[in-house]
Amino acid sequence: MFITADGRKFDVYKDSVHDNLCMVAAEDKDYFVADPKLGFEGETVTSDGKTWTLAPLSHANAEKMRALYPWTAPSRVLDRDKTMGVGDRLGIATDGHLRVFKKYTEITPILSQQSIRELNLTNRTFADVIDSASFAVFRCGYTTGWGADGDHVKTAKEVAYALESGCTMITLDCSEQIDNTIEGLSKAEVFAKYKQNKELEDIYMNKSFDVGEGITISFDEELYKRTVLIYSEAIKHAIDIFFNLIMKNGKQVADFEVSIDETMTPTLPAQHFFVANELTRKGVRVSTVAPRFCGEFQKGIDYIGDLKQFAAEMKIHAAISRHFGYKISIHSGSDKFSIFPSAGRETKGRFHLKTAGTNWLEAMKLVAMKDPQLYREVHAYALTAFKAATAYYHVTTQLSRIPSLDTLKDSELPDLFKHNDSRQLIHITYGLILNEKNADGSYKFKDRLYKLWRKYREEYAELLYKHIGRHASEILMK
Ligand code: ZN
Repeated sequence: MFITADGRKFDVYKDSVHDNLCMVAAEDKDYFVADPKLGFEGETVTSDGKTWTLAPLSHANAEKMRALYPWTAPSRVLDRDKTMGVGDRLGIATDGHLRVFKKYTEITPILSQQSIRELNLTNRTFADVIDSASFAVFRCGYTTGWGADGDHVKTAKEVAYALESGCTMITLDCSEQIDNTIEGLSKAEVFAKYKQNKELEDIYMNKSFDVGEGITISFDEELYKRTVLIYSEAIKHAIDIFFNLIMKNGKQVADFEVSIDETMTPTLPAQHFFVANELTRKGVRVSTVAPRFCGEFQKGIDYIGDLKQFAAEMKIHAAISRHFGYKISIHSGSDKFSIFPSAGRETKGRFHLKTAGTNWLEAMKLVAMKDPQLYREVHAYALTAFKAATAYYHVTTQLSRIPSLDTLKDSELPDLFKHNDSRQLIHITYGLILNEKNADGSYKFKDRLYKLWRKYREEYAELLYKHIGRHASEILMK
């Protein structure tokens, strides 16, 4: 306990205690208690006859902390064998996530992992997202390194913003450069649309490539031409971004992932090979590539698709990634428990797994457990907001399968999170729920939700430890 001379009391986070700096908790928020010599901004207080700075968790103080304790800053970690992106949409989940990674020490976390869309929907900035992860890392004494991903950034401007804010990884989403119209064209149409390219033809057309492990990748004329038409612009975009932004004065400044997963159809192994080989030929160094796998990776629920086919295709994608020396990145990995064993096995334990949003669902489950009335209000609102939210997400949710709330006792509300339809209902409406306002301009739910999450933060950390911990243990095949 830290008690000031004027009688204010704060709990001390024991894992945060260092010589001249620690973190303490008041009821509504956390502070640093810093030796005044460290120069943290804040209020001067005395305790036991000694003078301290009671310092808010501000951006300026985050910078000071990171200078003193470099492990509280994100760094490039994608070259480690096992990495997992968790993201902390609400800025409150990292303590729970770190319990997982303190246990499963072979996995290194990407604690910050936000897309521009998520930043907009939560009114946050990359700097704020990284600061809140840094504070949690300090609070929990997690000293072994972590990353910050500017996730699904699309343009040079977005990449530059993520890098300026301190992201140590860039996931370049090339979906806007991938031509989804080619898939539906006939062979004749593809041939008509294709423009001659002697250099590429000599390399790929009617050629085969041995990627090791007994796997051969072959391009007949049609597959070659289709692949060029679908992926050329995306490859060009990735090359531009890499050399203009990821490289600075001849030095690579961030880990680089190329994501081609947001397409209409699964990425064929040959197409994955083509993208990787072209990037390699041009000198682009990627840490990870995210192909689009077969089956469906809907938000917040298990994999939908043929598990055998997934395993067979994963084997080839993983072999291609090993051939070029990067890792496969699996997106929308939250709750995809049925594919984790084959993903762990076929990647031979070298993978990047991204989960996101499931920490929001656990936060809402906590609301259902602790404040049934508030949960009922949010749920009723989500039902009205669902249709608008489907503009952003592909889901197969059927609202009619969700039990009507008046038929459920309070104690049954947390069980809603066992069902895919109610999970997806709450999952995809998060931005609308957080932003909904009353007539007077105040937030309808947001402030009450954050107050509850603060009060029950220990319980929240335990929920995350169990749920995200299950992801870690299953992909490690433990
Ligand atoms: Zn993705």
